[in-house]
Amino acid sequence: MTLDSPIQYLQGVGPIMSKKLSKLKINTVEDLLFYFPTRYEDFSNIVAIDKIKPNQQCTVQGKILEIKAQRTWKKRMSLVQAVLQDESGAIEIVWFGQPYLTKVLKKGDLICAAGKAVVSKNGFYLSNPVYEKVNDTESAHLIHSGRLVPIYPETAGLSSRWFRNAIYRLIQIYKNQIPEILPEQIIKENSLMPIDEALQQIHFPDTRESAQKAKQRFSFEELFLIELVVLQQRYRLNKEKSPTIPMNVDLIKRFVNSLPFQLTDSQRKCAYQIFKDLEKTRPMSRLLEGDVGSGKTVVAVMAALNAIKNGYQAGLMAPTEILAKQHFQSVAKLLKPFKIKIALLTGKDDKIISQKLGHETKEGYIPDTLEISRAKILEKARGKIKAKTKELEVGIDFLIGTHALIQDKVKFGKLGLVIIDEQHRFGVEQRAKLVAHKKNGDNLIPHLLSMTATPIPRTLALTIYGDLDLSVIDQMPKGRKQIITKIVAPAERQEAYDFIKQQVKRGEQVFVVCPRIEPSSTPTEKQGPRTPWSEARAVKEEYEKLTKEIFPDLKVGMLHGKMKAKEKDKIMQGFKNKKIDILVSTSVIEVGVDIPQATVMMIEGAERFGLAQLHQFRGRVGRSDLQSYCLLFTDSPAKTTRQRMRAMMEAKNGFELAEKDLEIRGPGSLFGSKQWGIPDLAMEQLKHLPFVEMVREVAKETLQYSPQLKKFPLLAERVKRFEQKVHLE
Ligand code: ADP
Ligand code: MG
Repeated sequence: MTLDSPIQYLQGVGPIMSKKLSKLKINTVEDLLFYFPTRYEDFSNIVAIDKIKPNQQCTVQGKILEIKAQRTWKKRMSLVQAVLQDESGAIEIVWFGQPYLTKVLKKGDLICAAGKAVVSKNGFYLSNPVYEKVNDTESAHLIHSGRLVPIYPETAGLSSRWFRNAIYRLIQIYKNQIPEILPEQIIKENSLMPIDEALQQIHFPDTRESAQKAKQRFSFEELFLIELVVLQQRYRLNKEKSPTIPMNVDLIKRFVNSLPFQLTDSQRKCAYQIFKDLEKTRPMSRLLEGDVGSGKTVVAVMAALNAIKNGYQAGLMAPTEILAKQHFQSVAKLLKPFKIKIALLTGKDDKIISQKLGHETKEGYIPDTLEISRAKILEKARGKIKAKTKELEVGIDFLIGTHALIQDKVKFGKLGLVIIDEQHRFGVEQRAKLVAHKKNGDNLIPHLLSMTATPIPRTLALTIYGDLDLSVIDQMPKGRKQIITKIVAPAERQEAYDFIKQQVKRGEQVFVVCPRIEPSSTPTEKQGPRTPWSEARAVKEEYEKLTKEIFPDLKVGMLHGKMKAKEKDKIMQGFKNKKIDILVSTSVIEVGVDIPQATVMMIEGAERFGLAQLHQFRGRVGRSDLQSYCLLFTDSPAKTTRQRMRAMMEAKNGFELAEKDLEIRGPGSLFGSKQWGIPDLAMEQLKHLPFVEMVREVAKETLQYSPQLKKFPLLAERVKRFEQKVHLE
């Protein structure tokens, strides 16, 4: 068997065990070897039996004088009792509920037993100790006792004991076959532990210090791989060429003057950075960070307009249909004076909707749209996307859509700029595809602008996204008021409803966010963990209750992800046009949705959402000069809930909140529930930015010395494999 052999064929594993293991993402021999313990139990000092103190955690070594199984008379629980003797004395051992032990352990066996000495009527006994036979061939070295004993994250049916046995065996077999992927010089210069020793020491350490050193080596390794991947991707991108798109100052002035508001200085600064990038042949790769509501869209639209008027096409990809549609409408409105052909492409509709002209109504601007069958448009692979309907030919300048944009069928003629909204919601491949697959006929790749409201500290952003350029909108539009955030206890519910009523009477609108769609009794719905104190509120139930009991005289609407696209559309449009006062919704409205008249965001079961997500919800209100409110409903008594809710109240913006979240929950929290595939140790290290920067420097030097890593074939191979596993920019 080799390191990449399936774990199933390993002696003592088999199909049932391997299924359990695969749940832990352990599929190969190597995966198991690299499954690290989370902590160690110190059973290292073997004590003489007569030196044991009450309640002491200790390891003793001796011969079994007698051993027998019993049932307790009262509780009918099985017991195994034994007496263990060393040179200094003897002690009783009691194991509960493990009757098979009399088959494993026999009188006369020499064993080590580690556990707690519990006081009884006649002295002490060792209660439920871990044990191991000392004369066992397998345990010629102690692995379960008499040392620092590794404790693995356990799941049902896989005990730490099992892991210790299996991994110990693997280490013996593969000891000299594990490739050292780190270059020798890097190991030396950073005094890292070599691979063989590190594997041995992370599982079965001699001392706590050596365990720490082993862990450090693997942290270094994981981060190093991440940095290499990120930097290489960046260097590859830098070799590509993009069209130079000059900044049309007149055009931009006209656009800015056409806006119903003044751009903030921050927006101007970011836009300028983008325009400068577009003028270069080097592909832009810029992340536009700005808190929710800071006005990222208009900055992106400006860039798109400039590209389009220079003869290029632009594409905008958003993570949800609702958001894509909203962008379509607001972009159509922003660009109305510029006679640009905008189209919407989403997955479900089998149509491309294209803007013809628009007209202002008292319900706002409505683009007159034209529906053309998508097939017709897509069959034209070259030239601007063109479609011939009977009456007219439509060329598209600006295509807005969802994931549908990255289908292979969608080919652009002259794509100059790709904009990705809420980029953290997309996987890497999707992003890469939108850029790379869209090479124009002249072999130029489009410039890329990503936008996010998830504020990532700069160093972390550099780590995860590589050397991308960062523009930050750190200023809110004028006149915005701080959103008032309140935690609402169960007893104050009625008060909150009264407040909502009053807001609606003033012509303002309300979101009610619920964690789930169906009531929890519906078995089809995927449920989160049920907690005794909280019934996760379900949209459908809540909608019924609010329409019938609480707000019978107000207009309540419902929105969730399982509704048909058309229905969702109708509801969103209704909310926009104020045909709906209160919108009860799942997290589908999390990102981007822009309803300036909405001033109350009420969140049910707030403890079920991450801080970043809560902040996004809150960003749905406070989008005008009206005072807005965020009401957090929670009845969870958990301490972390209280901490997190307080953070929501205190943090003034997403950046502060991100830092708090980093403190409370670690870096994983920044990325929500998205699976990034970043290994645990690296994730933990992301908190320690100086370490991250140091590793990054080493990675840079390594690539300077050997850009393709040709001098380090083992490392190159590992980087390649790692790249497939991890989802980075
Ligand atoms: P986000 O950065 O969260 O994507 P949006 O781009 O959706 O924010 O903008 C939020 C709202 O603020 C929109 O209604 C937009 O028209 C408006 N807006 C953008 N910039 C300004 C500004 N400088 N002054 C006033 N309102 C603005
Ligand atoms: Mg947005």
